[in-house]
Amino acid sequence: MDEKKMRLETSMIHNESDAHEQGSLTTPIYQTSTFSFPSAAVGEKRFAGEDDGYVYTRLGNPTVKALEERIATLEGGERGLAFASGMAAVSAVLISLTKAHDHILCSNGLYGCTFGLLKMLEEKYSITHDFSFMEDEEELRSRLTKNTACIFIETPINPTMKMVDLSMVARVAKEYEIPVVVDNTFCTPYLQRPLELGCDVVIHSATKYIGGHGDVIAGLAVGKQEFMNSVAMNAQKDIGGVLSPFDAWLLIRGLKTLHVRLDRHSTNAEVIATRLKQHAFIQNVYYPGMEDHPQKPIQEKQMKTGGGVLAFEINGSKSDAQFFMDQLKLIKIAVSLGDAETLIQHPASMTHAVVPEEERKKMGIRDTLIRLSVGLESVEDIWDDLTQALEKCK
Ligand SMILES: *Cc1c(COP(=O)(O)O)cnc(C)c1O
Repeated sequence: MDEKKMRLETSMIHNESDAHEQGSLTTPIYQTSTFSFPSAAVGEKRFAGEDDGYVYTRLGNPTVKALEERIATLEGGERGLAFASGMAAVSAVLISLTKAHDHILCSNGLYGCTFGLLKMLEEKYSITHDFSFMEDEEELRSRLTKNTACIFIETPINPTMKMVDLSMVARVAKEYEIPVVVDNTFCTPYLQRPLELGCDVVIHSATKYIGGHGDVIAGLAVGKQEFMNSVAMNAQKDIGGVLSPFDAWLLIRGLKTLHVRLDRHSTNAEVIATRLKQHAFIQNVYYPGMEDHPQKPIQEKQMKTGGGVLAFEINGSKSDAQFFMDQLKLIKIAVSLGDAETLIQHPASMTHAVVPEEERKKMGIRDTLIRLSVGLESVEDIWDDLTQALEKCK
């Protein structure tokens, strides 16, 4: 069947790269660091880039390539690259797009380590950054400078679940020829495809939904051939944060059930968000799929569902929030998201502790804010655990 005609769900399972020796149904794991050349002359050609054969796993590996082709197809991009972590993908892309004294405009809220990376780029290379909610086109234009090298967006924003209208930002950025990079970790291509909305590069922490089972750290990036070639040559080959063949294999396996898992994560999250909202001890619930989310039209326009992550504020103080978390039995206190297990964390003291308090306040990360990655358990068991813990907060 022509790959181009396959629906997204089918492309998660089948790919052109699936023609394996011996008819192996699943992608073989080429657990090798190097590849022997049939002759010295072929070796010379491979180094000169005149022969496509493999050389050394940091420069390319068939199992890793099978994953890279899959993610490129799913995101609708020309070339995908796999990395040792989401942060390796984020840093490779940002380093490729910037030079000293450039400027990066970011969504008002970022993964904590991305924030840390931006601080480092500023201290070492004077690459400045600032933040915008990107809600207003005129405000967005006013924030771009002649040195703006890229716009970096998370949507929904971790952990406040605010959204950025990707097609609006992409349209404005095109006028100024500024590339737009989207960290699509919370959505995956099943829920949101930024390249189709006019953005230029998509990044994933594949550690989350794509892996889906909490057993691998990995990153992915997808974009235009020419740009991704430069990322591969400079930031991947020479900096070296590549994915291992076995971890690539785990992600190919994860992708096959991604759509089924995300459907359940989303329906479970919707039920939990709706019920939490009605609970007396809960002040605010932030979930993109909720009818009264102030940016619901953006969700409907660019996301298939509201996803599996929500955040809420508990009545009381930071210590009340921590007391509540300590009462949970089924739900695990852990950072990360997108696993089969429901995970809960306290952003102000955990994932976003690196963000100075002043910045946290501006981003809306209060000390009573709690993030929940709703898992695949029975939604009634998740709810029972939350309610028994809330009862103890009386
Ligand atoms: C986890 C995460 C990252 C970092 O990914 P790692 O795989 O942990 O390096 C980046 N962005 C977002 C939105 C994340 O949730």
